[in-house]
Amino acid sequence: VDNGKSKADITSFRQKHLGKTLSLSYQQPLKIVRGQGAYLYDEQGTPYLDMVNNVCHVGHCHPKVVAAGQAQLAKLNTNTRYLHDNLVNYADKLLATMPDELSVCMFVNSGSEANELAFRLARCYTKSKELLVVDGAYHGNTNACIEASPYKFDGPGGEGAQPYVHKVSLPDPYRGAYLGDTSESALAYADSVKTEIAKLAAQGKHPSAYICESLQGVAGQIIMPQGYLTEVYAQVRAAGGVCIADEVQVGFGRVGTHMWAFETQNVTPDIVTLGKPIGNGHPMAAVITTQAIADAFVTGMEYFNTFGGNPVSCAIGMAVLDVIKDEKLQQHALETGNYFQQQLKQLQQEFQLIGDVRGLGLFIGVELVENRDSKQPATDKTSWLVEYFKQNHILLSTEGPFYNILKIKPPLAFSCADADKFVRVLKAGLTELL
Ligand code: PMP
Repeated sequence: VDNGKSKADITSFRQKHLGKTLSLSYQQPLKIVRGQGAYLYDEQGTPYLDMVNNVCHVGHCHPKVVAAGQAQLAKLNTNTRYLHDNLVNYADKLLATMPDELSVCMFVNSGSEANELAFRLARCYTKSKELLVVDGAYHGNTNACIEASPYKFDGPGGEGAQPYVHKVSLPDPYRGAYLGDTSESALAYADSVKTEIAKLAAQGKHPSAYICESLQGVAGQIIMPQGYLTEVYAQVRAAGGVCIADEVQVGFGRVGTHMWAFETQNVTPDIVTLGKPIGNGHPMAAVITTQAIADAFVTGMEYFNTFGGNPVSCAIGMAVLDVIKDEKLQQHALETGNYFQQQLKQLQQEFQLIGDVRGLGLFIGVELVENRDSKQPATDKTSWLVEYFKQNHILLSTEGPFYNILKIKPPLAFSCADADKFVRVLKAGLTELL
C-alpha cells in the first residue's frame, strides 16, 4: 500500500500547475504506483490487467531491462562524442533485425523526434518538402509531426493541412470506400496516392516523402489490404519521393509473424522510425535508413542530440532486444494473438454490436456498431464498455475517428488466460448492453 498523496491532491495540483491540456483516463482517475508483467497496481495494491500499454513491451519493469539500465546508470552516462561499446553494439544488434539496405541508425529520444528527423532526411535527399500523409494518422507532437498528422490538424484545435501536406485516403477495408482485403481494394486505395502525386506534378513538384504506419494505430487499428504498400511505394519512388514506415506503435515483434510490421506488406522502406517499445518505457527512439539517404544529410550542419544514443539508453535497448529473443515474444504474440482473435470472433457471432474484429498478433481492434449494415458507430456503448472494463480491473481505451473501436495492444507478457479474462468481461458487458 502506498502512503503518498491523495488522488484529490494530485488532481488539483495537476489542474493548477501542470500543462492545461494533460488528460486523464476514466471518470474516476486511477492512481497507479507499480507495474509488473501485463499488470498495473493501484495505491491499494489492486491489480489491473493492462490491455493498452504498448510501451512496456516486454512487460512492466522487466527485471533484465531494469538491471541493464541500473548497472549502466551507475557506471557512465554521456553523449555520443566519446567512443563507447554500447552505441555500436546496440546499433549493430538493431540493424541485424532490419533488411540489409537499411544500414544506418540515428538515435533520438521519442517517436516524434524520430519522425521529425525522418522528414529532415527526406527533404535533404529529395530536395522537396511535399509530404504525403494518410488520413486519420498521428505521427507525433512536434510542429512538423502535427503538420503530418490529419488526426491533429483536422481535429479540435487544428489548423488544417499546410500547403505542402497532402492527404491520401485511409486504406480501411471495413469502413472505407473500398471494402475487403483484396488486391482490387489495395489498388483502389493506392490510386489516391497516384492522384496526389499527379496534382503535384501538374505544379512542377514532386513528393519528398510518403509516411505511413505499417498498421494504422490512431486512425483505427486498421490492417491495410495486402499489396497496398507495394503499390504505393512504387508510385512514390517513381515520382522521386522516399517511403517512411512509422513503426513507433507496431514494431518489435508485436505483429507476431515478423519483427517489423512493414514486413507483413512485403516492402522495404527507405526510412523506418522506431519508438515506444524500443526502451520498454525508457525514453528513447531511433531512425533507420539507407547509406544514400544518410549521405545526403551530410550538408555541413552537425546533427547533435544530447541524449540520443547515450550508453544507458543503448544498454536498455539491447536488453529489450535480448528479452524479445530469449523469451520468444514474437512467437508468443503470434500464438496468443491468434487465440485471442479466435475468441473475439466467436463472440462476434453472438453479439450484433461487434461489427469487426481485426488484428495481427497482439495488435487488435474490435469495432462496435449499432447496425451492421449502416455501420453506425456505437460510440457511447464503446465508452461505457471502457468504464465497465475498468470496474472489472481491465484497462484499455477507444480508438478511431468515432471512438468506437476497442484498442488492444497489451505488453507482450499478456497470456491466453488474460485473453480469456478479457473475453469473459466483454461478454458480460455486451450482455448488459442488450
Ligand atoms: N508515431 C506514432 C504512430 C505514434 O503512435 C506516436 C505516439 N502515440 C508517435 C509517433 C509519437 O511518439 P512520442 O509520443 O514518443 O513522441
